[in-house]
Amino acid sequence: MKITIHRGANQIGGCITEIESAKGDRIFIDFGHNLPEGDKKSDDKFENPNLLREVLRGVSDVYYTHYHGDHIGFEYEIYKAGVAQHIGGLSLKMMQTLKTHMQHADGLKDQAADSLAALEHFKVYRPAHTEQIGDISITPYFVSHSAVDAHMFLIECDGVTALHTGDFRDHGYMGGGLMKNLKANIAPKHIDVLITEGTMLARGGEKVLSEWDLQEQAMDVMKNHKYAFVLCSSTDADRIVTMFKATQRTDHKRLFVVDSYQGAQILNIKDNLDGIYKSLYFKNISKDYDKLLPQMLQDGFIMLVRNSQTFENLMEKIVPQIDLQQTVFIYSQFGGYIDKSHAAFRQSTYDFVHKHDWKMVQIHTSGHASCQALTNVCNWVHPSTAIIPIHKEKDSNFSELQLDLDLKGRIVTQTQVMHKQVGSQNIDVEIEIKD
Ligand SMILES: [Zn+2]
Ligand SMILES: [Zn+2]
Repeated sequence: MKITIHRGANQIGGCITEIESAKGDRIFIDFGHNLPEGDKKSDDKFENPNLLREVLRGVSDVYYTHYHGDHIGFEYEIYKAGVAQHIGGLSLKMMQTLKTHMQHADGLKDQAADSLAALEHFKVYRPAHTEQIGDISITPYFVSHSAVDAHMFLIECDGVTALHTGDFRDHGYMGGGLMKNLKANIAPKHIDVLITEGTMLARGGEKVLSEWDLQEQAMDVMKNHKYAFVLCSSTDADRIVTMFKATQRTDHKRLFVVDSYQGAQILNIKDNLDGIYKSLYFKNISKDYDKLLPQMLQDGFIMLVRNSQTFENLMEKIVPQIDLQQTVFIYSQFGGYIDKSHAAFRQSTYDFVHKHDWKMVQIHTSGHASCQALTNVCNWVHPSTAIIPIHKEKDSNFSELQLDLDLKGRIVTQTQVMHKQVGSQNIDVEIEIKD
């Protein structure tokens, strides 16, 4: 087995991992776009069609862990190159909903239409169901992340077993089950190579709040404010559930208001997932806004908003009718976007959040594994041959985790050949780290 980290060993975003069998079968795990810095458009060398074609030569399939833009971003070009693309069923619906919505935005129409054309041809994989690409077998398993329907992959070829975690965390609603499953069912499969995300390493010992903690925080805020606007990711179902549950637990009469777009996302989820997501109930402001407003003003509301002209217009109508002393804006996304000293600072988001003279509070937790979760995964999986950290800052170092000593010696950050020992024999695992 040869593993190439095309991107991700020294950056968060633009994730691309390649698996090649001894016979020359080649697949990619994720093919993401570089993340933008602040308001700037992100640069990505694979926007050059020649470079893209070059890297795809001989690759038959791309398997996506989930739908975040740093893991999928070139689907149209990859489709045009005749490479098969695979994703989870609900992820595909989410992408199609997102791109259909994007078609309404000027300047994004063509790109969205291209993407939708490519998505038509996507293949859907099933969790715990193995697919075979030449000598490479690949089995997806569900993981909890700030995107619903995220997966890790168990990959076997040439007598070597690798686990690619994708993005994951254990502090979301589905996180506990994930860790139990990993410990009980996946770790015993004798993993040789663990390819794992390390986003939170750079944030050191920072205490990581769970979605349940956020519910409590949101309830405290809602108790003291009759009216709340909430800005969170439209595709982060856990966070929408957190805000909904906090609303219900604070005051049964208060309205939880979302528009048809975010509502459609939730409906997709409701149709496809059991458990906590099933109990969601929402009001459709796009259709029912005029009917709903008197009740919103009387009983109070929690309203999900987005940074768009449509919402600015809506809020311009609502704000003069409510007491701003009783109003809060809950910012429930990465804090860097509204922190002027952060590289990710986005002026338009900052302006939107501070548009009116309301109180603003931040309620957020990471979509990524805490250092403790990373430590547990490494120790439980206990790969025999290598740990390859990806999706991490250049300077963050896996050896700072409380790992078993023998594991520390297996961390691979540069191109090298590792050896899996089978009795007195060695199987080579070639690891190439680019970028
Ligand atoms: Zn992600
Ligand atoms: Zn990511």
